[in-house]
Amino acid sequence: TGNRGLIAELIRDVPDFPKPGIVFKDITPLLARPSGLAAAVTELVADSPRDIDLVVGMEARGFIFGAPIALALGAGFVPVRKPGKLPGETVSETFALEYGSETLSVHADAIAPGSRVLIVDDILATGGTIAATAKLLNSLGADLVHVAVLLEIAGLGGRERLAEQGLADFSAVI
Ligand code: 5GP
Repeated sequence: TGNRGLIAELIRDVPDFPKPGIVFKDITPLLARPSGLAAAVTELVADSPRDIDLVVGMEARGFIFGAPIALALGAGFVPVRKPGKLPGETVSETFALEYGSETLSVHADAIAPGSRVLIVDDILATGGTIAATAKLLNSLGADLVHVAVLLEIAGLGGRERLAEQGLADFSAVI
């Protein structure tokens, strides 16, 4: 569709960021263009199931898309954050990234067991971020219904990693 073409045009490739050899997909031009931001949210919502209780987004870019998608679906929003940010009791997961390693945390009481959860992020690369998030949410008894990302970087094994994690219901806008 026109939306998908617009989204692709507004994501900028930045070579050698944050490390030599990495081509970083910069979504800030997309966010800054009103029609681009609207297209991204519209297509992420179109790719998602309707009957969602909670949208989970990961710090930081998952927050940008997660909240408007939650509003559109009539769902709540739960942030998955870097360590030391959440004030309550948390559960955490540490994992390897495309570059470096990361720990993610969520409030232990954020998800009622059996809640129908949609995970949203901007980019799927190796799948480490979403796999770690899925482990956190599974440990809280969530029903992981769908994973929606804006952009899938092919060739890094992300989609396969999600499938291994039991996250077969996955969509990428581009
Ligand atoms: P993964 O865990 O799948 O390897 O990496 C995905 C996570 O890292 C996402 O949370 C995403 O925001 C971030 N990320 C990885 N590569 C890129 C990139 O090229 N551009 C942007 N914007 N984020 C990236």
